[in-house]
Amino acid sequence: MSVDIGPLRKILELEHSRGYSDSAVIGGLDRFLGNWSGPAMASIPSRRALSRFRKLGLDKSSYDSLTVEQRQQWARDVLDFLTELEHEGEGKPGPGTARKADQSPRARQPKVSTDISPDSPITSVKGISSALASKFGKLGVTTIRDLLYFFPNRHLDYSQRKTISQLTQGEEETIIANVWQATETRPGGRRSTEAIVGDETGNVRVVWFNNPYLVRQLAPNMRIVLSGRVRLFNGRYVFESPEWEPWQDTDLVHTGRLVPVYPLTRGLYPRQVRKLMKGIVDQWAWQVPDFLPASVREHRNLLELPRAISEAHYPDDNEVKDRARTRLAFDELFLLQLGVLGRKWEWQEGQPGNPLHTSREVLDTFIDSLPFKLTAAQERVLAELLNDLERPQPMSRLLEGDVGSGKTVVATAGLLMAAANDCQGALMAPTEILAEQHFATISRLLAAVTHTDEESGYLHSYSGILPRPLTVAMLIGAIPAAQKRELHRMIRGGEIDIVVGTHALIQKDVEFRQLALAVVDEQHRFGVEQRSSLRQKGHNPHVLVMTATPIPRTLALTLYGDLDLSVIDQLPPGRQAVKTRWLKPEQRRSAYNFLRREIGNGRQAFIICPLIEESEAVQAKAATAEHERLSREVFPDLKLGLLHGRMSATDKEKVMRRFYAGEIDILVSTAVVEVGIDVPNATVMMVESADRFGLSQLHQFRGRVGRGTEQSYCMLMAEEPSDVGLQRLDIIENVQDGFQLAEEDLKMRGPGEFFGTRQSGLPDLRMARLSDVALLEIARSEAQKVFEKDRNLEKPEHALLLKEMSRVWSSEAGEWS
Ligand code: ADP
Ligand code: MG
Repeated sequence: MSVDIGPLRKILELEHSRGYSDSAVIGGLDRFLGNWSGPAMASIPSRRALSRFRKLGLDKSSYDSLTVEQRQQWARDVLDFLTELEHEGEGKPGPGTARKADQSPRARQPKVSTDISPDSPITSVKGISSALASKFGKLGVTTIRDLLYFFPNRHLDYSQRKTISQLTQGEEETIIANVWQATETRPGGRRSTEAIVGDETGNVRVVWFNNPYLVRQLAPNMRIVLSGRVRLFNGRYVFESPEWEPWQDTDLVHTGRLVPVYPLTRGLYPRQVRKLMKGIVDQWAWQVPDFLPASVREHRNLLELPRAISEAHYPDDNEVKDRARTRLAFDELFLLQLGVLGRKWEWQEGQPGNPLHTSREVLDTFIDSLPFKLTAAQERVLAELLNDLERPQPMSRLLEGDVGSGKTVVATAGLLMAAANDCQGALMAPTEILAEQHFATISRLLAAVTHTDEESGYLHSYSGILPRPLTVAMLIGAIPAAQKRELHRMIRGGEIDIVVGTHALIQKDVEFRQLALAVVDEQHRFGVEQRSSLRQKGHNPHVLVMTATPIPRTLALTLYGDLDLSVIDQLPPGRQAVKTRWLKPEQRRSAYNFLRREIGNGRQAFIICPLIEESEAVQAKAATAEHERLSREVFPDLKLGLLHGRMSATDKEKVMRRFYAGEIDILVSTAVVEVGIDVPNATVMMVESADRFGLSQLHQFRGRVGRGTEQSYCMLMAEEPSDVGLQRLDIIENVQDGFQLAEEDLKMRGPGEFFGTRQSGLPDLRMARLSDVALLEIARSEAQKVFEKDRNLEKPEHALLLKEMSRVWSSEAGEWS
């Protein structure tokens, strides 16, 4: 893209000859500028030029309101500017003298980063080799735009300059000084550089350990900026390995300002990345078109996008840094909300559903026969569910409830309503074991009310609740092919009312006669795509998504704004709290003894391995080593099992099944054990390096025990917890409520860590903090307004927004249009 300044020049020349009567273009000059300025701005070669562009008002033209004299002056200024622009485009410095408007210049095209755009690969940037690009690739950065959105984790505040006489020990300080001398030294045998620098108030020593090469760069009398910590050594101040760079008035990169700290990977170095980012930001940030409708930006007083990007990297001060973050966070939340609104609309308004009549008789028979009374929360949620099922729009509801809060009973009532309406219901679980557990639970609940006619491993039939037999089946991969085909046939023919299964349920060869309700358990293991393919199984079935991950309301509304929310916020009475304690390293032996005693009493235990790195491969290796160590040195007489993410699904299932059957005493596992497994006989959970897990994750681990009637225990091992680690351990010891923990967790961590947004099929949140409820609500309300005005983003003022939406939601093509 390059700006064609030819037409504007011609027009201005014509205007001159017509006495500045605004008659050179049909519709007036402002109208021309309105179309011209956007693309022109996007191809201006430098920041300086861009700011001239703005100063001249080329981006918000008001030519028609100027007097003739003003128009004349303005036209001259603009022509000068255009001339400069041409020269700058050729890499020459602009001519200091202005050209007269009536000199007829040759129209030249400025050469401005011609075919590179923000979406070009980073290798198209000068100085980025493919080797460097592959390192960035590891950080998820492949295009120039990715680089612009590759934000620092934080900034070092090197903005406060001091003189040498003002230095304070132990502080991060910045000085500007002259180099008096620089020599190579060998403190403790390490080849290092030592320098004496001075300003008008005194001298100070500087040491860069293990870096003898600096000697060559630090020429005597050079003026440099130093930023770093000052220590007292032998009674005198010394800067130890500070950041430094030659002094210049502006555009400092490493010192003397708020200095970005970028995430790194092997082979990327702070100075290198900072320098590179500075170049990228200066050259490219202002070329990113601002997709946000101006009305929204102005109404909420947000920074313009190019400025926000630039200030997020190299902020002028803390205040503008915060404003940059706000703008970028707003974008994420706004785009997310807009997409989610589109999805919901498409699902609910876009297509008619399957209204289900609530059969009170069937429902009461079921509920009266349960061996317990529903909690108030279950009653409330059941009412919400039934209310949705009766509506002609397909339901789209998220059911949240802590582990053991009784979600399955509520879901079963819904499935029963589908059957009572001569339709079908399906329940999908993320693993075979969970599917089996659900099948067993549902069967148990129904068996209490009904007479069981027929019972095989995967097909149950009950009479006494419907006027006809009620058939419940389980469909999982492990079922032999012939029986599977038979099940498929029965589902297609409507002979099966309720089917429980895994992904097997959404495969092509499974067809339902009339699927009216689909329940998805542990939804964060399911991608959005899988959810929607289950939806396609029926004539727009109602969908109920269940999760035991206690997602705070604000988070749920953001990430799952396409779902209505029901919460079971109460456990059935009489549940025992899991006794939770964090132990110091010297208590390890007694912890093992305790564990051994519980196993002696016939119980089972989990040991979660230390979290070494987020890498599955590293974790698997660590777990294997720990399993071996425990088997050999600590529990040679007990039966230990091993579970980690690198095992095949079948092997995982096998181990879990053995644990479930009591053939394994202790399951040594990585964090993969986190999701919804139910082994009531397990009473001890031991978590290594517990201080390194988040609160919600610890709560999920803890939820693996305390599922039976026995008192259960959770032992948290922590070697040297950090302050934050200690705080978390303290909270988890004292708080049992999952929602309260999740709120605490969100406060302490970013949303990305809290909840992998990537795997949930939603755009990434990098800048947004979901604890920032105020911004979240602003974003929701702005998204709502845009959506109501222009649902398909067809209006011209939404053209860029539409483009941005399809980019951000591209992994979801088809879902949002
Ligand atoms: P979730 O799926 O929410 O973890 P489940 O639905 O599996 O919980 O219920 C956990 C256990 O609690 C089951 O054994 C269930 O029968 C039982 N249960 C459910 N609701 C109640 C209740 N209101 N009172 C007592 N026990 C209940
Ligand atoms: Mg459950």
